Amino acid sequence: MTAIPQERRVVTAIPGPKSVELQARRLAAVAAGVGSTLPVFTARAGGGIIEDVDGNRLIDFGSGIAVTSVGASAEAVVRRATAQLANFTHTCFMVTPYEGYVEVCEQLAELTPGDHAKKSALFNSGAEAVENAVKIARAHTKRTAVVVFDHGYHGRTNLTMGMTAKNMPYKQGFGPFAPEVYRVPVAYGYRWPTGAENAGAEASAQAIDEITKQIGAENVAAIIIEPVLGEGGFIEPAKGFLPAIAQFAKENGIVFVADEIQSGFCRTGQWFACEDEGIVPDLITTAKGIAGGLPLSAVTGRAEIMDAAHAGGLGGTYGGNPVACAGALGAIETMRELDLNGKAKRIEEVMKGRLAEMQAKLPNGSIIGDIRGRGAMIAIELVKAGTKDPNPEAAGALAKACHAEGVMVLTCGTYGNVLRFLPPLVIGEDLLNEGLDVIEQAFGTL
Ligand SMILES: *Cc1c(COP(=O)(O)O)cnc(C)c1O
Repeated sequence: MTAIPQERRVVTAIPGPKSVELQARRLAAVAAGVGSTLPVFTARAGGGIIEDVDGNRLIDFGSGIAVTSVGASAEAVVRRATAQLANFTHTCFMVTPYEGYVEVCEQLAELTPGDHAKKSALFNSGAEAVENAVKIARAHTKRTAVVVFDHGYHGRTNLTMGMTAKNMPYKQGFGPFAPEVYRVPVAYGYRWPTGAENAGAEASAQAIDEITKQIGAENVAAIIIEPVLGEGGFIEPAKGFLPAIAQFAKENGIVFVADEIQSGFCRTGQWFACEDEGIVPDLITTAKGIAGGLPLSAVTGRAEIMDAAHAGGLGGTYGGNPVACAGALGAIETMRELDLNGKAKRIEEVMKGRLAEMQAKLPNGSIIGDIRGRGAMIAIELVKAGTKDPNPEAAGALAKACHAEGVMVLTCGTYGNVLRFLPPLVIGEDLLNEGLDVIEQAFGTL
């Protein structure tokens, strides 16, 4: 296959006629509950481009929700996965094991923070990894309570729905949810009543007070947090919050779990986002960026905690599928070779610079209430001019205007008012700037 030209090209309406036709078939055959941000059907994708069935080329600022950090057809991923496909597709690691699984676990031990002995278990999806982190923490502590945070997102299975903060669309009508899940405040700097500079200390004190008084620290198996909250709006907990919570967990024998499913694997300019504040989690959950688009997830952590679950207690038919493991080894190889942490940091510099310029100079720039995020996980929070009132209408309209011009962007946030940018880390700087030009022009359409 020839490489996809790395240029934006809009040759039809978006979606074009072939996509419209496929969308009609899709509506008749696919359950309505499975949505799509933009019903443009993909023909191929790679680098920073998604090419659709009508020949349009979209600049990709979504990476399939922070998955294809190495691109959607990275050479090393394709090469290794293809070779593995020809050898065998599946044996089930629980029946007869294979080297790729072990090698991924070795890589995870090396790449995750901390120099203690580590072990991993592999699964298929992020939600499954989170569920297994809870199983492992409960087995280790012999306690039941699980503490999660405001604006947190952990998945769509029953337990992880219960752990997720936002009702619509994730939870509405799907209860009852699993018991023993407790939600406490997070240091959302932009919206903290006494200001971002106080958020870290005050929110951690509040969270710890609630855990102590309402749950009882001695009942808590795990505290689970995203070091940069993803679906909740790319919220970086204010400085000091994560270390305070991690310290509290340590003092009380609670397993501290970093859910790095969205923020991990170079996305924020570090292998893992928790490294920025020197946090060493007991367990880390990973998925999304781990395998260049193939379905794989992992729980990695302290060997003595990981080994608490009895033999046969963890696993699954497909967990750590050999093709997905080969993809992960290809993705990790690419991340190292192309220094994708460095690339993510450069993307942050370019994006934050351009977005700050837009905020300062555009006539309606003041609706950009906050510019935040790290590495190639950057967002703007949109508000009504002169207030902090959420402006989800502007986020929706900007996304729509970008889509029409061939730039794939996503929204998120508890209030639906955050426009988020997750370009593949391999995107060229010209394409990155062109995408930002389109975003800038989109403000003119409001
Ligand atoms: C996406 C996500 C999940 C769930 O992953 P799935 O693969 O969709 O099950 C869990 N936690 C975080 C932080 C995520 O971003």
